[in-house]
Amino acid sequence: MSAPRVAVFGSVNMDLVAYVDVAPATGETVTGTAFRQVPGGKGANQAVAAARAGADTVFLGAVGDDAFGVELRENLVAAGIDTTGLRTVTGPSGIAHIVVDGRAGNSIIVVPGANGEVVGTVAGDRELIGGADALLLQLELPMEAVVAAARAGRALGVPVHLTPAPARELPDELLESVDVLIPNEHEAAAITGRTDPREAMTALLERVPEVLITLGGEGSLYGTRDAEPVHAPALKVEAVDTTAAGDTFCGSFAVARAEGADPREAMRFAAAAAALSVQRPGASSSMASRAEVEDLLR
Ligand code: ATP
Repeated sequence: MSAPRVAVFGSVNMDLVAYVDVAPATGETVTGTAFRQVPGGKGANQAVAAARAGADTVFLGAVGDDAFGVELRENLVAAGIDTTGLRTVTGPSGIAHIVVDGRAGNSIIVVPGANGEVVGTVAGDRELIGGADALLLQLELPMEAVVAAARAGRALGVPVHLTPAPARELPDELLESVDVLIPNEHEAAAITGRTDPREAMTALLERVPEVLITLGGEGSLYGTRDAEPVHAPALKVEAVDTTAAGDTFCGSFAVARAEGADPREAMRFAAAAAALSVQRPGASSSMASRAEVEDLLR
């Protein structure tokens, strides 16, 4: 079987990650325990996840003309990702300032930089999207760009997967071109006003045909309009850093579906990939290879 092809249209950032026992309150300064500079951005993370899961992956987006831009492009190339659709624009690359608090979890500030310059699809993008078996989108690019890419995917017959993060109002003009919506439980609640994931799912299914809600250590819930939701548990592991757990899950799920796996099998595969990633620090650098995921599932 030939490898599925995945196109990711999204953000790429340099993650500047500070680890701290207890995150500072406003006006407070604390001493951190470690610092790492690692390539990230939800788009790039999902692209690396898809590539690690075995897909021929193409990334569409933008970096700045700074040193981070060079490093970010090199990181994608090193992961085996086609960067034909990655443009270099004048100005700084996107960055994410991430605080990993040992007790309370992560807090993140994203400064979009070059990602904010992507306002639509450009010549060549449609060809790259049209050659794919799945298109993955998130909300770290300007909305008009995400809508343009979703419409291109829909027009070209490519299943469109949207991770609605960071959570915001989702316009109908976007959702009408989305096949699979993949929020985490917080995003699902923010979009629908329903904190119960099953109720949120019912509300979301009025707007898109397939919904997959990730529930952190509780696993994930998948639903369509005509069947009962399916729950898949997370694997019981010691999580040290959940950065990009959702992106790992989403990229792996899309690859498994593009290979013909049914939703339950794809959720199991994605849960194993995510479980391996949360046991290591970092974003895309923490993602496991397909062989490691298959070993875990054996
Ligand atoms: P992030 O924003 O950190 O990338 P997310 O909030 O989008 O993550 P989650 O719902 O936290 O996504 O996690 C996605 C998947 O990762 C879960 O469905 C689960 O399979 C796996 N996962 C997350 N946290 C854990 C954990 N503590 N133990 C095992 N698996 C986990």
